[in-house]
Amino acid sequence: MAQAGYIGRFAPSPTGPLHAGSLVAALASWLDARCRNGRWLLRIEDVDAPRTVAGADRTIMQQLGACGLHPDAPPAWQSQRGDLYRAALQQLTSDGLAYACTCSRKDIETTLAAQGQTRSRHAERVYPGSCREGPLRPQAPARAWRVRTDVVLEPHGQSPGGSAYVSWHDRRLRAQTQDVTQAVGDFVLQRADHCWTYQLAVVVDDAAQGITHVVRGQDLADNTARQIWLQRCLGLPTPQYLHTPLVLGTDGAKLSKQNGAQPLDVSRPLQALNAAAAVLGWPAQNASVPEALATWIALVAANGGSPVAP
Ligand code: GLU
Ligand code: ZN
Repeated sequence: MAQAGYIGRFAPSPTGPLHAGSLVAALASWLDARCRNGRWLLRIEDVDAPRTVAGADRTIMQQLGACGLHPDAPPAWQSQRGDLYRAALQQLTSDGLAYACTCSRKDIETTLAAQGQTRSRHAERVYPGSCREGPLRPQAPARAWRVRTDVVLEPHGQSPGGSAYVSWHDRRLRAQTQDVTQAVGDFVLQRADHCWTYQLAVVVDDAAQGITHVVRGQDLADNTARQIWLQRCLGLPTPQYLHTPLVLGTDGAKLSKQNGAQPLDVSRPLQALNAAAAVLGWPAQNASVPEALATWIALVAANGGSPVAP
């Protein structure tokens, strides 16, 4: 089932080697692309410099290669794409859609408390918008650049009093909605340490690379509304999304290094692939890696092109 112009991607953060959970997303996005004769790209999401582990990108590429998941172009590194992110922030700022925020954590707490909003432990704070109409502390350096979520987007200038209410369709999770204004507020595009945030970088790169289909883990589903809002602010197209089932750790939470995820052992790639395929609902194969992958492509094609079994 060829689809003209299909471009998919796998976009790992090089914070360590791939684990069983990340292979599920990689395999699903690869199968989705292969089944449509599309292109499949690898993007190393290393914008968060403090969390980046030296050499993890190489390890990830070796792990994918051992599993037969080969990208169709050399990988892109987000750490080399700062000019694109800077241009996007510049565009948003000149369109009145992004602004410098000088608030410290304490400023944000104080403002929220003054508004009578108490915060439950660990819950993320919704930024109260203090610097929207100019920095709260005009002499202070910017601690973050934020995008406005309180405007109605119009072709010629933005009008205040809007809400970033985003509805979207996920190929697996079906109809989704989020009021970004209420749920997260004006979110951060660039941090005080000058690191670009995941939200900005992913939106700019998905568009710059012409990504038509995003297939990734369900733990990221919650970011999608923010990304669609940013796409609208930047006048960029919205890809189709599919969020894959998660592998759970021993504590029932999403598998991560914190709850015992082991680096993927690719000395036995078929075993690793069979485990990932099982999460997607596909039967284990007892063949060579290329034969196993070809069988799953055929099953995905017979499943109407969905890489997750019904
Ligand atoms: N870099 C992100 C992560 O590894 C995934 C980005 C994406 O697929 O949108 O969590
Ligand atoms: Zn502020």
